[in-house]
Amino acid sequence: MAGKDTVCSLCKNKAVAYLPYAEQRLCNDHFAHSVERRAKRTVREYKMLDGAKHIAVAMSGGKDSQVLLYLLHEIASPMGIRLTAILVDEGIKGYREKVIPEAKSLCKELKVPLKIVTFKRSFKRSLDDIMKLKRKGEGNLRQEASCTYCGVLRRWLLNKATKEIGADRLALGHNLDDMAQSYMMNMLRNEQSLMRLNPVGGDAEAFVMRIRPLFRIPEKEIALYAVLKGFKSTFVECPYVVEGFRPYVRGFINDLESKYPGTKFKLLNSYLSTKDAISVAASKGKRAPNSCGKCGEPTSGKICKCCELIETLK
Ligand SMILES: [Zn+2]
Ligand SMILES: [Zn+2]
Repeated sequence: MAGKDTVCSLCKNKAVAYLPYAEQRLCNDHFAHSVERRAKRTVREYKMLDGAKHIAVAMSGGKDSQVLLYLLHEIASPMGIRLTAILVDEGIKGYREKVIPEAKSLCKELKVPLKIVTFKRSFKRSLDDIMKLKRKGEGNLRQEASCTYCGVLRRWLLNKATKEIGADRLALGHNLDDMAQSYMMNMLRNEQSLMRLNPVGGDAEAFVMRIRPLFRIPEKEIALYAVLKGFKSTFVECPYVVEGFRPYVRGFINDLESKYPGTKFKLLNSYLSTKDAISVAASKGKRAPNSCGKCGEPTSGKICKCCELIETLK
């Protein structure tokens, strides 16, 4: 991230990071402090931990969730807040096998209990099974991208597991890049689900309150922070990723960012300043959340999206 022969903007040490949007070069220590300070500020500004007793931390096993768990451990543990990591194993061959031991080792190091929930146990089919069905055209499976199944089923499982362990918050590792991409994807598809991106969201009665402490930190900086902290993280790309729309949007936004530094922050700010108006407009005429007729989880219709997708597998 830094050019050669550069020094920290705040001291005389060698710079390891360049933050183009801030025109700042930072050394190891100043960079780590900067990331920690920004995460703390986000948590405070958005009152993410106010009244919290027990936080479920969604672990994908990748660098984002490692940094999320580490920083929450730093911020929440001194406040007497309990942490439990939850890892969803979708059942993608060659993908989770490498990541699960890394998640286990960090949880052990931080003394945070880890709960693993699987698609196979909960839905009787792994994501691989679901995708095989899709290719064969069996069942009533709709031609939806793997990410749709995976995303909906993951969200359902995380919400359920969080309630099962009695946690009052679900922390998600979404970073600035994720937020900018999701926002742009929402716009390009004209979807009305923008509230799902809310940095602090959910209705305690139905959905567990979700918090995103890293949502203002760029992905590159989280990756660098993970390296500086010595987290072991094998990068394994999801084998289904090519089927998704997100990679196109990611490439497009990264191009824009390199030509016009600060684009990702502008996209995020655009989202933050419009979401309230959008949510009011979108909620007009909508009923309060019901309980899904099949699983009892919250939904705006009669049957939740998860149960609807599971039906297509029969
Ligand atoms: Zn420095
Ligand atoms: Zn349901």
